[in-house]
Amino acid sequence: SGPVLEARDISRHYPVRHTGRDGLIGPRRVVHAVDDVSIALHRGRITAVVGESGSGKSTIARVLARLEAPTKGELRLDGRPVGKPRGRAFRDYLGQVQMIFQDPFASLNPIHTVEHHIARPLRLHGPRRTKAELHDEVLALLERVSLTPAEQFARKRPHELSGGQRQRVSIARALAVRPEVILADEPVSMLDVSIRLGVLNLLQGLGHDDGLALLYITHDIASARYFADSVQVMYAGRLVEGGPAEAVTQEPAHPYTRLLIDSAPDPDRRGSLAGARGERLGEAPDLADPPTGCRFHPRCPLAMPVCAEKEPPKFPAKATGSAAAAGTGSAPGAGAAGGAGGTG
Ligand code: ATP
Ligand code: MG
Repeated sequence: SGPVLEARDISRHYPVRHTGRDGLIGPRRVVHAVDDVSIALHRGRITAVVGESGSGKSTIARVLARLEAPTKGELRLDGRPVGKPRGRAFRDYLGQVQMIFQDPFASLNPIHTVEHHIARPLRLHGPRRTKAELHDEVLALLERVSLTPAEQFARKRPHELSGGQRQRVSIARALAVRPEVILADEPVSMLDVSIRLGVLNLLQGLGHDDGLALLYITHDIASARYFADSVQVMYAGRLVEGGPAEAVTQEPAHPYTRLLIDSAPDPDRRGSLAGARGERLGEAPDLADPPTGCRFHPRCPLAMPVCAEKEPPKFPAKATGSAAAAGTGSAPGAGAAGGAGGTG
């Protein structure tokens, strides 16, 4: 079947104007936070977007969740365009595509109970229910995210919960409206290392067992490899490489992907670049004036003159097809091939 959520050639630009110390307003600049990103999310599959800070990961997530409009490009849910804000299709889209944020403290209201947080979307979106039915649904959702005994957790307030438990409440709340897609923006990076795996495994189950389409955003390529079926690598607002998790992490084609892997601890990596030549990553480019050609070329140890003019060619497909999928999102066949490796 086709993708649940398909984004085509999405760009998101921010006009900015800084006020200097002298109080004078600077020139108008346009930050190219995301440029021409295409990505497809499939039922039962986990797609990771990996990139360093400022590469545009959260921006693409906010656009996919339609919390922000794209400057350019198209979003489709089950083949249907999103439609105009306040229209029916748009409302459906907002329900079907749920986002989980990095900071579980900020996303829960301290004055409300866990039950209140989860019951609210049920009341807003679902069919009419009695109080008892609503309560039972809240308990079932708490059980789904392993917050048991559910009766006890339902009565708690956010300050009585650990970070991991709060993130589980956020997940239960997102699940309340029975979404098809969950976009998780660095869902465990603020959590204690010891509880990260539990939350990641819960999210993985929502994809692999419950058939949701999941987008997992992270700056940590090792966790993307462990967790996702396919990996898309983002650099300076663009997707530079993508494909099955195994292929992208074992046989990276783009030099940036190799540097990313080299800067992460992974004993059985291949294709070392930074390690061998001692390069450091250096400064990220100014997105108001992004480099021409391949955006990575000013930092790339393998850059050739042509790189300042053109994006790198689509690399010839290897057996696993990692580089052939660069920039085109996750092709159905490719993602399926990555499934086995991604969960190891
Ligand atoms: P991190 O790993 O730090 O969360 P990220 O990959 O999520 O980074 P984004 O938050 O998407 O990156 O930001 C991408 C670029 O867009 C950055 O240069 C950021 O400063 C810029 N940006 C994001 N939101 C806005 C905004 N509302 N106005 C202006 N610039 C913005
Ligand atoms: Mg971010």
